[in-house]
Amino acid sequence: MSALTYKRTNVYEKADEKLLKEIFDYSEGYKVFLDEGKTEREACAWAKEAAIKNGYKPFKFGQKLSKGDKVYYDNRGKNLYLIKVGNANVAEDGIRILASHIDSPRIDFKQVPLYESDGIAFAKTHYYGGIRKYQWAAVPLALHGAVALKNGSVIDVKVGEDDNDPVFYISDLLPHLAAKQNAKPLGEGLGGEDLNIWLGNIPYTAANDEKDKTVKENLLKILNEKYGMAEEDFLSAELCVVPAFKAKDIGFDRALLGAYGHDDRVCSYPAFTALFDEKSDEHTVMVILADKEEIGSEGTTGMQCALFADLIDEIARSFDTTSAAIRANSKCLSADVNAGYDPNFPEVCEKLNSAYVSCGAGITKFTGSRGKGGSNDADAEFIGFLRKIFDENGVIWQTGEMGKVDVGGGGTVAKYIANMNIDTIDIGVPVISMHSPFELVSKADVYEVYLAFRAFVK
Ligand code: MN
Ligand code: MN
Repeated sequence: MSALTYKRTNVYEKADEKLLKEIFDYSEGYKVFLDEGKTEREACAWAKEAAIKNGYKPFKFGQKLSKGDKVYYDNRGKNLYLIKVGNANVAEDGIRILASHIDSPRIDFKQVPLYESDGIAFAKTHYYGGIRKYQWAAVPLALHGAVALKNGSVIDVKVGEDDNDPVFYISDLLPHLAAKQNAKPLGEGLGGEDLNIWLGNIPYTAANDEKDKTVKENLLKILNEKYGMAEEDFLSAELCVVPAFKAKDIGFDRALLGAYGHDDRVCSYPAFTALFDEKSDEHTVMVILADKEEIGSEGTTGMQCALFADLIDEIARSFDTTSAAIRANSKCLSADVNAGYDPNFPEVCEKLNSAYVSCGAGITKFTGSRGKGGSNDADAEFIGFLRKIFDENGVIWQTGEMGKVDVGGGGTVAKYIANMNIDTIDIGVPVISMHSPFELVSKADVYEVYLAFRAFVK
């Protein structure tokens, strides 16, 4: 191959024993985060605890920041900001921002979820984010979330993760009777109102009791004993149905890692571990674990919330400069996944410009659809800057678009940050079967993304 030719590098092809060990060791820590942080609430709490262990202190509005400070801001338990103040002049050097998200597609309970039909108790649901509904039937499901009681207390719910826990279920038809369903387009096999969760089957049978002898009544009794809650308390609950699977190595060589919620824990984990592990103290660094990315980054815990600008204002005030000056000199990696090239479905990808599994961190210059619509389309100069620091730090990376032109598309938090006059580009791990209950990534790519983030914040 001529030195003038561009070719992707496969990490596993290049890896020596030392790098291979680093890749595999790093993925063990990531697996723990995956299994213990399946919802934004759990991921936020987990990362906050890790931050506290690494010397981060809670930030309060009005507090003056100083060089060397390490602070966190916990936004409603669903969105975490980590800030490390560097020695450089923040007005001139800006902030190095790593923006990832910790919400993942899932199925939420409705606010009046419980009903009984023909002797089975069910919960009605409304799915969250872009799921292919048929993939969520006939797999073990866990229930995670919170119930806010009128007295102000909040009950944490987590059922289906312990080996002794029961799990939950969405049913599908047997092939013998599915002729009509089989004839439907795949996307219509199961409808939104078909995603009803199987909750119980034993009727209430207590003796000498006036109560209805129904399965629903028995279920309410169990819930009251376990959580002290009544049916009305579902009105102020957020209960998320997620796959009950644990993260697992995939393949004889264990090169790949399967799990629920790689999108976007697979970029969140590298973001905060890169911050904790990188000891250089030049740049001011902000790591964002955002919520609501999967439904448009809206609301108080999403990336479009003014909180992001407010925190930059606080940094500006601390150092007698303006938010505008800081933002003009800041740089952001929108740390999110991209579609990996899947040899089983080559027809949706264009081979030259796809991100390949195990070929390193994937940079996506633009997302969007129909002529880059809805994307921030990062500047060539910013990619030039990243090429330099990645190459200097031995990071293996590649470029990748999501799919062929006009086949589909997607978006990330990148545009919301770029709209604030901050150079922003998407970078992350290529994912196979994205948004499915069990997504696939390469351990090598997870590690290269971590190295890329370390190089960026160094
Ligand atoms: Mn994502
Ligand atoms: Mn997503």
